[in-house]
Amino acid sequence: MNLYIIATPIGNLEDITLRALRILKEVDFVLCEDTRVTRILLDKYEIKTSTISYFQHSSLTKVNQIIELLKSGKNLALVSDAGTPGISDPGNKLIEMVLQELPEVKIEPIPGPAAVISALSISGLPTDKFVFYGFLPHKKGKEKILKEIIDNKFTSVFYESTHRILKTLTKLQDLGLDKQVVVCRELTKKFETVYRGNIHEVLSELEKGVVKGEFVVIVG
Ligand code: SAM
Repeated sequence: MNLYIIATPIGNLEDITLRALRILKEVDFVLCEDTRVTRILLDKYEIKTSTISYFQHSSLTKVNQIIELLKSGKNLALVSDAGTPGISDPGNKLIEMVLQELPEVKIEPIPGPAAVISALSISGLPTDKFVFYGFLPHKKGKEKILKEIIDNKFTSVFYESTHRILKTLTKLQDLGLDKQVVVCRELTKKFETVYRGNIHEVLSELEKGVVKGEFVVIVG
């Protein structure tokens, strides 16, 4: 029995590897963060495999059901709504439990898109070393991390939502950020936009448009 951790598109449904498509077809079940989201991808490629919902806070009963499936010899694939499972997404907890309960299961990565890597790849900033912060905390501890990002000698990257992007960038400006910033919005999607410059330039460009979508922020 195998557990495949499969990366899926972060927007454009063509961004999926041939190997990912083959394995999604061949496994017994696909574990999905949201079965409706994954069904859109599976339908596009005429993949009929049954889906099971799994998210980071799934009950122990659900995790045990998954472990039972593996014990009975089934092959499973884990996907998230977008990108690479486990990267600010469900996955790690399941893998930890499977390793504990069934160390003989082969856990294989099927690599593909991750918003953090796509954004870094077009940033033009040093990427030989970078610090990935995932989602920043909403309140407690946020200012401390923003100060750390300002002082970081390596490139910093984090994920941000529509609701907080302006607030977070304004806070970085208020704290005196004086470095190159790249904000990637809606990568691979219809409204893909990349804002580059210092924090004042990026903020004023963003404020001119409709601030909507998914964002990756990179600080040089
Ligand atoms: N596992 C995913 C990955 O590998 O990138 C990340 C999932 S995380 C729950 C979702 C966040 O990733 C979004 O809030 C946004 O910050 C970032 N993201 C995902 N897709 C994106 C896209 N197409 N463009 C920009 N940012 C994106």
